[in-house]
Amino acid sequence: MTISELLNKEELSHSDLVQLLKIERQEDMELLYRKADEIKQKYCGNKIHLRGIIEFSNYCRQDCYYCGIRNENKNVNRYRMSIEEILHSTSLIYNAGIRTIVLQSGEDLAYDKDKISRIIKSIKEKFDMAITLSLGQRTFEEYRQWKEAGADRYLLKHETANPSIYFDIHPYQNFEDRINHIKYLKSIDFQVGSGNIIGLPNQTLNDIADDIILCKVLNVDMASFSPFISADDTPYKNVSNCGIDIVLKTMAVARIYLKDVHIPATTALSTLNPDGRKKGLLAGANVIMPTYTPNNFRFNYLIYKNKPGGSESPNVKLSNLNELANELKLSFSSSKGHSLKI
Ligand code: SAH
Repeated sequence: MTISELLNKEELSHSDLVQLLKIERQEDMELLYRKADEIKQKYCGNKIHLRGIIEFSNYCRQDCYYCGIRNENKNVNRYRMSIEEILHSTSLIYNAGIRTIVLQSGEDLAYDKDKISRIIKSIKEKFDMAITLSLGQRTFEEYRQWKEAGADRYLLKHETANPSIYFDIHPYQNFEDRINHIKYLKSIDFQVGSGNIIGLPNQTLNDIADDIILCKVLNVDMASFSPFISADDTPYKNVSNCGIDIVLKTMAVARIYLKDVHIPATTALSTLNPDGRKKGLLAGANVIMPTYTPNNFRFNYLIYKNKPGGSESPNVKLSNLNELANELKLSFSSSKGHSLKI
């Protein structure tokens, strides 16, 4: 079957996804990105959703082999932001017109159930915005209480759908647990984000097709496909960074297959390539997550090397994003950008 016949099929199978991920010819890639853009237009229009992210703690009890802030990395300057500092960063996000805040951290139990609930409630009292939590795996009871406190979304990537790779990269976690957590979060009505890392040791295109299909099976509301980038002082410090093309192809195939999900052009993509965000937006992405972590903390949240979002102020970054949006004839949404499924 030709690529254009494949792209017009009603239902794509696993082997169809693999065939699309294998595309190498320039004209086939263009067909793929054009189709992804068409589907994005249909489900998302020409709006980009911005999510302001605050990385409020880099303490972590886990030891993911790829991650720069893993517990065993003794060369990290660890920090925790206070509720006041988090609220200040939230006000910057709100004043920039962004209506979703993402609170992200390592798995840091110092922010216990009640402390996170207090943060959620304080934000909701002061600001009319959606809250996404990205705190790693916590207890079901904690998830429940945070939902009741007003959190809207939870981001927990499955990282890889291949249980044996999952085991290789996470010494203390197992794949089945991770999936059960994602299912539980869905069951208590969180809008859920998940997704993978591309370029992990031993990962194949079959695995990546499985990742895309798993996002459908789990009925996730947001799916993030981001490149592996090596981080200093980790067991994977010498593993090569992922190439950009496979990430863009994965995003495009995911858009075509999953349709009504939010797909971010990730920060990691712009680390790989200065035009990463633009390329991502042209390959099916409809979300950008600018960092609002204060500068004095940001440089210690190095989950991978050369993470950008450097020293320029959020306003400068936003005006760069504005230029990009204009160039692509896209505009920023002023809504909270809830799930496309509700
Ligand atoms: N601790 C939380 C959230 C912080 S990490 C959690 O585990 O869910 C957020 C994401 O960063 C992870 O899900 C992972 O996909 C990504 N990440 C971490 N290290 C990375 C690396 N070296 N390259 C690419 N992505 C990485």
